[in-house]
Amino acid sequence: MTDNKPVAHRTPNFSAGPATIPTQVLERAQDELLDWQGRGVSVMEVSHRSKEYLAITEKAEAKLRSLMAIPDNYKVLFLQGGGSLQFSAIPLNLLKDGHADYLTTGTWSAKAIKEARRYEALGLGEVVEVATGKASSFTDVPAQSEWKLSDNAAYFHYCANETIHGVQIFEPPKVDVPLVVDMSSCILSQPIDVSDYGMIYAGAQKNIGPAGLVIVIIRDDLLGQASEWCPLLMNYTHQVEKESMSNTPATYSWYLAGLVFDWLEEQGGIEAIGNINAQKAELLYKTIDDSEFYHNSVATKHRSIMNVPFTLKDSELDKVFLEESEKAGLLHLKGHREVGGMRASIYNAVSLEWVQQLVDFMKDFEKKYG
Ligand SMILES: *Cc1c(COP(=O)(O)O)cnc(C)c1O
Repeated sequence: MTDNKPVAHRTPNFSAGPATIPTQVLERAQDELLDWQGRGVSVMEVSHRSKEYLAITEKAEAKLRSLMAIPDNYKVLFLQGGGSLQFSAIPLNLLKDGHADYLTTGTWSAKAIKEARRYEALGLGEVVEVATGKASSFTDVPAQSEWKLSDNAAYFHYCANETIHGVQIFEPPKVDVPLVVDMSSCILSQPIDVSDYGMIYAGAQKNIGPAGLVIVIIRDDLLGQASEWCPLLMNYTHQVEKESMSNTPATYSWYLAGLVFDWLEEQGGIEAIGNINAQKAELLYKTIDDSEFYHNSVATKHRSIMNVPFTLKDSELDKVFLEESEKAGLLHLKGHREVGGMRASIYNAVSLEWVQQLVDFMKDFEKKYG
């Protein structure tokens, strides 16, 4: 980094995704953009099969394995199509003409089951919805005692963090079949035990890097069972054999993900970032709960530590809140159109200081309009 480079001004950004990327990561990408490793080319401009680029992918996978303590019997894939393409890929790889259980707790898990159901019509298997939250609100998770689990399901699918509704499932459900979990908006946010899961997947644009990339972590024994109709690019076994390079991968996104993993390691790893995330969430929820002006309706034990939706006492003030917060330099606090109100997404790259600024603003706003 050059000495007299101005410090980048970075505005507190609470976007749900694509979301904030750590400043140090973007600075490093900027430094390397035109002249990567002194080669006079950008990472974007080299072959994905070159030994220099392969060093990046190997390092990114090694870092991710170390950060998440991924056991050796799991494969890690860096694919394309975001989190959503996995909704279609999972049944084709894992259904095996059988049936699978799905838990619906919000918009994302609802999308996942909808995609899986397309295969029923083709006779490729069946999909069972074991339980669904209240579609009108999705503020809680149905208790496991109410789930109608089927016998011998090929897998159990759920979404660990519903990004839109701010509903998180912290403990892996205790079922006898492999868990397949969408962790798009909570991966790397707190320690988990990877061996609790059959497959973990996550679109990158929340806690990993640029949109488009998706990471799949899959246990060995779930490979090798894809339907003959499974498109090659969606076939996990094939992608494992090709080391995620069946076709040209999203090379720049993969590189940036590697830089984010470096950054996470420098922050002290997932336990350290998890502690900060807990503090951020606590500060924000406490501010909401301590006031009569703000409200979050998610059941306490399922309140997301990454996405915090909240409403104002008077929804007429929503517009004013958004205008004034933006003027105060706090970006993207508008709630998703499905739920309205506000939402603060406080992913790994959103600092405690930014959350403090948000809380200060909220208190001032309440004083002014409450
Ligand atoms: C963002 C998100 C997705 C979809 O990601 P895309 O990259 O847009 O396909 C899926 N699941 C969850 C929980 C998400 O937050």
